[in-house]
Amino acid sequence: MTYKSLSSTHTALSQGQTTCANIVKNYLEVINSARHLNIYIEVFAEEALQRAKKLDEKFQQNPASAGKLFGAVISLKDVICYEGHGVTAGSKILKGFKSLFSATAVERLLAEDAIIIGRVNCDEFAMGSTNETSCYGPTRNAADPSKVPGGSSGASAVAVQAGTCLISLGSDTGGSVRQPAAFCGVVGFKPTYGRISRHGLLAYASSFDQIGILANSVADVASVLEVINGPDEFDATCSAELPFRTKLAAERETRTTKIAYFEAALHHPGMDGEVKNQTLGFIEKLKAEGHTVEPVGFEYLDYIIPAYYVLTTAEASSNLSRYDGIRFGHRTQDAKNIHEVYKKSRTEGFGTEVKRRIMLGTFVLSAGYYDAYYAKAQQVRRLIHDRTREILQRYDFILMPASPTPAWNIGEMADDPVAMYLADIFTVQANMAGVPAIAIPIGKNSAGLPIGIQFMADKFREVELLAFSASLPIHITA
Ligand code: GLN
Repeated sequence: MTYKSLSSTHTALSQGQTTCANIVKNYLEVINSARHLNIYIEVFAEEALQRAKKLDEKFQQNPASAGKLFGAVISLKDVICYEGHGVTAGSKILKGFKSLFSATAVERLLAEDAIIIGRVNCDEFAMGSTNETSCYGPTRNAADPSKVPGGSSGASAVAVQAGTCLISLGSDTGGSVRQPAAFCGVVGFKPTYGRISRHGLLAYASSFDQIGILANSVADVASVLEVINGPDEFDATCSAELPFRTKLAAERETRTTKIAYFEAALHHPGMDGEVKNQTLGFIEKLKAEGHTVEPVGFEYLDYIIPAYYVLTTAEASSNLSRYDGIRFGHRTQDAKNIHEVYKKSRTEGFGTEVKRRIMLGTFVLSAGYYDAYYAKAQQVRRLIHDRTREILQRYDFILMPASPTPAWNIGEMADDPVAMYLADIFTVQANMAGVPAIAIPIGKNSAGLPIGIQFMADKFREVELLAFSASLPIHITA
């Protein structure tokens, strides 16, 4: 059998009911039977099994030597480097590329005895909300395989949802961990910008990107965050402020909290009726438990998406200039001069969505338009940041839907990128402001599709955010 939490895994291991090797074998079976969902790009079957056996031996010799993540089987989104293993960001341009070093987060997982079982699909360079922009084809939602799993960390969410691993690391630039978590009925968490090192995370938009955690429970998110957070000499934006230490058990007794929500968000024209009703129902439950939940004004809601897509495409156009056919990745077979090497390698290697964003980003940074678009969007970001933090000084948390709708059909948004961009309306704010946020499953709609809710807290207040989240009734739908 497979276990749904780190604590049940640890109990079973310490009571001798199972071994790491057995746990890995069980996950490998589930991975095999879930192939139709197209979750894994590569399964590290033999290697994971060998590592599990070594961990079992170490544990037998000295149970006290077990690391904090002993026996935790983890998958990695295909944008996170693991030395000697392939990493391609779901893109043809990196096919065949192997990581030269491991991400700091991965090194920290391994140092605490976690087992990496494979790398999972994602939108190309994490650009998307459905997993459909991957060169490996779409991942399917296990709740209904005709639906998208969300994105860009869609396969990370399905990997947990379908029980192919205990935990998955994803990345979140504008909601890529939280929105798929909501679509798949699992917990998805994005930390404060600077909480987890970005060293070894393939860059999309560096001032927004953070590694995030997907799991079945808030407690497991906290356990992983405790291991992978903290300063890193390889990432100058990684903060030393207030190291995260789990005090969930102590904090859980909780005092009641003050929560803000935006009326304009709940009454937004894009909101699905069932998501709205369940969100309102959840607000009533929170009030009944003694929490204060109040509407506050937020005048920038409709500026979040335009500013985000100006800034992230600008950063992406710069970050992705390194894929030039010369240094690594795909090189065209068909070039007569250096200019053609660049042009054809990039034309052949990148997919449509990535090209669209590189062009948009190049445009908003170009001499004649810089002030009108890029500089203006930076100013808008500052306003959103300041106003968000001002609210979070008066309230403990901001409550939002995680997504205005449940998962949609595969192919449904393919021809309408703007509609898809607009669907990020509730998740992008946390990245614009750099604050931590979590998506938690609260139920299903009438078609059986998961619905999630989201909470944001002020910077570096993960302990409070996770302790509060752990006290909420969660509906894991897997
Ligand atoms: N859907 C958003 C985008 O396409 C978010 C992606 C992400 O967080 N990586 O940019």
